[in-house]
Amino acid sequence: NAIQIQTSAAGASAADKKKMVHELCQQLLLTDEQVQELCYRILHEVRRGLAKDTHPKANVKCFVTYVQDLPNGNERGKFLALDLGGTNFRVLLIHLQENNDFQMESRIYAIPQHIMIGSGRQLFDHIAECLSNFMAEHNVYSERLPLGFTFSFPLRQLGLTKGLLETWTKGFDCAGVVDQDVVQLLKDAIARRGDVQIDVCAILNDTTGTLMSCAWKNHNCKIGLIVGTGSNACYVEKVEEAELFDMPDNHKPHVLINTEWGAFGDNGALDFVRTEFDNDIDSHSINPGKQTFEKMISGMYMGELVRLVLAKMTLNGVLFNGQGSEVLFTRGLFFTKYVSEIEADEPGTFTNCRLVLEELGLSNATDGDCANVRYICECVSKRAAHLVSAGIATLINKMDEPHVTVGVDGSVYRFHPKFHNLMVEKITQLIKPGISFDLMLSEDGSGRGAALVAAVACREDILNSK
Ligand code: BGC
Ligand code: MG
Repeated sequence: NAIQIQTSAAGASAADKKKMVHELCQQLLLTDEQVQELCYRILHEVRRGLAKDTHPKANVKCFVTYVQDLPNGNERGKFLALDLGGTNFRVLLIHLQENNDFQMESRIYAIPQHIMIGSGRQLFDHIAECLSNFMAEHNVYSERLPLGFTFSFPLRQLGLTKGLLETWTKGFDCAGVVDQDVVQLLKDAIARRGDVQIDVCAILNDTTGTLMSCAWKNHNCKIGLIVGTGSNACYVEKVEEAELFDMPDNHKPHVLINTEWGAFGDNGALDFVRTEFDNDIDSHSINPGKQTFEKMISGMYMGELVRLVLAKMTLNGVLFNGQGSEVLFTRGLFFTKYVSEIEADEPGTFTNCRLVLEELGLSNATDGDCANVRYICECVSKRAAHLVSAGIATLINKMDEPHVTVGVDGSVYRFHPKFHNLMVEKITQLIKPGISFDLMLSEDGSGRGAALVAAVACREDILNSK
């Protein structure tokens, strides 16, 4: 069957092939009306997450983080941080100093695949072991240091140092952790070793860390965004809106909300823009039916989305004269970094594109093929940028402040050559007149942000007010 179609399209002219690629990619382009509709739907879901009555059924959970104080630049001291939930697991030692200055040492540790999908006990024992090794190597083995734990998964927080895992996301699926207090699991694992002493001062999401690390220098920073392995945003909300917030007596007027927008669409709210490729990604993932928005955006899936389009076009004979390769037809082997590399080529040149195609075992591509491959990458990454922009514009409009700085981190935002500009353009179109915004790259939010949340929690003026 594939062969038949292949012979029909393989002989087509370059112009006709281009037309066929553009037609198939039409479904990946979001019209202005669709993006506007997405903003309404996201706002609706955010409100459902915030409100007590609707929260249990809401997809966008809008968890309260219990972070109420942004850094003021007076935070000082030595902190440990753990960063779990991106591509790497890291342990960090951060020294916050005068004049917004800081020193940081860190080490990346691998989390082997069997641990990512093993038992929770194995995972936390592994984390505790890495922490202990790190402390020994950095000569703080016998010190008792405050620690901030960046745990980048949906957490139902009950306080700054207590949070129950709602569900795993990305590549993780460790047994026995859902509904458990993750801080307690970490403390238990450290106690089992019995060698090092730490004070867990805060558990936080990477979006929170990103916001905090930008807010340390820029007091307008009120949104933290991640477009990396996963995608999510947090923002500053008024306490009255955060109905799930168990307010302490001395509460402040605002609290950070971790939206967990990755789960937007799990109830079908995105079906009007989803494609056959999105369905394919979802049904082959380890969490089918979950993280629908994230699967259309983040780095864990972007390369695979492109690969699915390429594979289809190859089987149709539209690309590579119908001649694919084993790598092209294998799941997970078109890396998201390829999308950035291909789009980094100067217009009309295909240097990176050809290098990528060679890695895929496709060395006979014509210029027409390269242009089509590039176009497919552009459609997939542009759609991701527009989806993220709809989310950010919705939050900015809801906050209704004259100026908002968005702190951003994550591999897609960092390394994709056009993601930033695509976002600026789309958000500008979507926000209310009179509001301005800017996107600020966060300098290591997960690490430094964790230290800052821990530091703010033990900052003197705040302790004194308690
Ligand atoms: C997680 C979020 C996290 C995001 C970015 C998502 O899969 O649910 O908690 O912030 O990835 O790392
Ligand atoms: Mg990270």
